[in-house]
Amino acid sequence: MKIGIVGLGLIGGSLGLDLRSQGHQIIGISRQSITCETALSRGIADRVSTSMNLLQDTELVIVCTPLAVIAPTIKQIIPYLNPDTIITDVGSVKQPIVTECSQLWSNFIGGHPMAGTAESGIDAALADLFRNAAYVLTPTEQTKPENLAKLKAIALDLNAVPYICDAQIHDRAVSWISHLPVMVSASLIEACLQETPDTLKLAQILASSGFRDTSRVGGGNPELGIMMAKYNRLELLRSLHQYRDNLDRIIDLIEQENWQTLAEILQTTALARADFLN
Ligand code: NAP
Repeated sequence: MKIGIVGLGLIGGSLGLDLRSQGHQIIGISRQSITCETALSRGIADRVSTSMNLLQDTELVIVCTPLAVIAPTIKQIIPYLNPDTIITDVGSVKQPIVTECSQLWSNFIGGHPMAGTAESGIDAALADLFRNAAYVLTPTEQTKPENLAKLKAIALDLNAVPYICDAQIHDRAVSWISHLPVMVSASLIEACLQETPDTLKLAQILASSGFRDTSRVGGGNPELGIMMAKYNRLELLRSLHQYRDNLDRIIDLIEQENWQTLAEILQTTALARADFLN
């Protein structure tokens, strides 16, 4: 298949590496010419350009830009596409993207490959990044079954596991497993920093794997955290409020020295975590 990839960073570059190795012809488009040159030299794309007109005759275009520029990018590429070209994106929030982009292009289907690293940019692109990862597709009532089938086949070419769901349910689920943890972890770091300097210094000396694990996602790229909060605002607020209720309950139990109920909660969460991660 002739596939256009727009935005050759970590995700776009990684998609190019794998799809090209599966025999697809990859047209790579990116904002900077240095990125395009790297894409050619790394074998990420067959042809590259900073200009959208190379997308003519593509059967599928995968938009891999940051969330804020997905819809503007689609507006830019539309003049170069055949009406039956499928457009998909890889954005990590789906409802607002699907609502806006489906209005721009009737053959748009939202997508989210659930794989990544802490790095960004084309130099971070990796072969085999998507193996065994879920590849979420969020069709709407207007989606043509044959288009969805083509995207499922692309996910399988990446050795990923296609998963079809509603965009809003996707956003709710990723809020629990990705966006809420970032905010919780960031609050943990921020709260620690409010300690007196002497205690903080000792805490730093004593900190080990527990603090490393619980603070990791709160110490990530601030821009990504802002994107999550901005684009998944309602679902993130919903999970944050629920989380605050649970935290308040734990505070009450400790204040009341209700060790029995606290023990029941911790026993439930210990079992549930093992189950959840399986
Ligand atoms: P990235 O490594 O920063 O790559 C994004 C690419 O888009 C850049 O290489 C850049 O190309 C281009 N770009 C950046 N700003 C742009 C702008 N204002 N206008 C046009 N092009 C621009 O980011 P990424 O991690 O691949 O993320 C891309 C998308 O994947 C996002 O929508 C994100 O939600 C989604 N996603 C990310 C992950 C993850 O773990 N990182 C996982 C799943 C999905 P140039 O180099 O040419 O400037």
